[in-house]
Amino acid sequence: LTNCQSDITFFQALEEVLTSIKPVIKENPKYLENNIIERIIYPNREIRFKIEWLDDKNNIQVNNGYRVQFNNALGPYKGGVRFHPSVNPDILKFLAFEQIFKNAITGLHIGGAKGGADFDPKGKSDKEIMKFCQAFMTAFYNSIGADIDILGGDIGVGEREVGYLFGQYKTLTNSYDSIITSKPIALGGSKGRASATGYGLVYFTQTLLEDMGETLKGKICTISGSGNVAIHAIEKLYDIGAIPVTCSDSKGTIHDPNGIDLALLKQIKLVNRASLEDYAEERKAATYVKREDYEGGSYVWSIPCFAAFPCATQNELGEESAQKLIDNEIKIIAEGANMPTTPQGIELFMKNKIIFAPAKAANAGGVAVSVLEMSQNNSLNYMSAAEVDEKLQGIMSKIYKDIKKTCDKYSLGLDLASGANILGFKRVANALIAQGV
Ligand code: NDP
Repeated sequence: LTNCQSDITFFQALEEVLTSIKPVIKENPKYLENNIIERIIYPNREIRFKIEWLDDKNNIQVNNGYRVQFNNALGPYKGGVRFHPSVNPDILKFLAFEQIFKNAITGLHIGGAKGGADFDPKGKSDKEIMKFCQAFMTAFYNSIGADIDILGGDIGVGEREVGYLFGQYKTLTNSYDSIITSKPIALGGSKGRASATGYGLVYFTQTLLEDMGETLKGKICTISGSGNVAIHAIEKLYDIGAIPVTCSDSKGTIHDPNGIDLALLKQIKLVNRASLEDYAEERKAATYVKREDYEGGSYVWSIPCFAAFPCATQNELGEESAQKLIDNEIKIIAEGANMPTTPQGIELFMKNKIIFAPAKAANAGGVAVSVLEMSQNNSLNYMSAAEVDEKLQGIMSKIYKDIKKTCDKYSLGLDLASGANILGFKRVANALIAQGV
């Protein structure tokens, strides 16, 4: 497997799952008899398409678009869309693979997929973003459907982009089908979807800590990223009385020892769509460290804290950073981003008995509320923000309890990553067996 250089990130995710499920395979001959491993590691369908669009100077631009429809044993394909220059088939295959198990862990009936394009939204005008979204949808709208494959947001795809993607789908098909979630409220979005991943991350962490007689209240927390997940995690951390002191973007890190100024952060990242460098200009007590000026992982992870929440991107927390967190006596890592910790980082945390809440469980709140959005669109019964939030808390608490039960059954202690993989795998594998070949 390791010789396949083009699928490096996918194989990293695959190896983690395959290692975790060994005890289940040993105990259940039916999984081998039904060739489940081979059936689960190949995507059902990988779509690649060309996106042509006109920029503001009327130049024709070309990007690559992808959708990996990995597995639909449990329900229609479901997974976000990412717009970032780093997007390639390997990254999307890894994200789609992870999505299968994350979706299964929620207990909801959805399969796993992921899509995106190597398009850089940075520096583009609103009109260019709209044109790109329209071209993206035009290129592949006939491969999706409300019972086939439902899209959502991810890095570089927020409410604005989702609105444009949905608008173009409507134009092309004359249908208001729920083919995308994270829609603006004006287009039938769910109250509480934008905040669901970040809030869910904090709910999951609190439930887990409470089970151990601990709490986040009054504790210093570090967060990486400053996008949808990071901002809402910071917001919820304040709500429960924790002290979030860092955030970061692709250019650098902010450490604000008095606590991140959330209003300022939102203004800079969500309204001005600017760099965090502007934050330090406004808050003199805060330190800004440029990415290139810091060697040895990310500056975020050198700040002492009780809990760390990586919420930016994959493989952002490596061995060196993990060691710094351990030296600073961290108690818990909870992953907001997808696979932000490298395998070496995870190994160090496990060896040092640091509690590790894996992304598949801890950031599943977003997709869970996306399913609530789909159900509201289909039933035309819309919930209040408070109702959505109550459901989200219940879902995150159930996810934790189901994983804990799995850990107990397989004597895994607090190896929640293995517990989550086993729980998700069994649900998907049983559905594959039930559907026949
Ligand atoms: P956003 O685009 O809103 O924010 C991403 C943030 O991460 C930005 O601050 C961005 O910096 C930073 N970032 C992106 N790439 C890099 C990089 N290579 N190095 C350093 N920083 C980087 O995305 P989301 O908040 O939605 O997503 C963040 C993570 O959470 C992703 O892993 C995503 O897959 C995962 N996730 C998101 C869900 C959701 O509901 N949105 C659901 C489940 C998981 P800059 O501002 O400079 O671009």
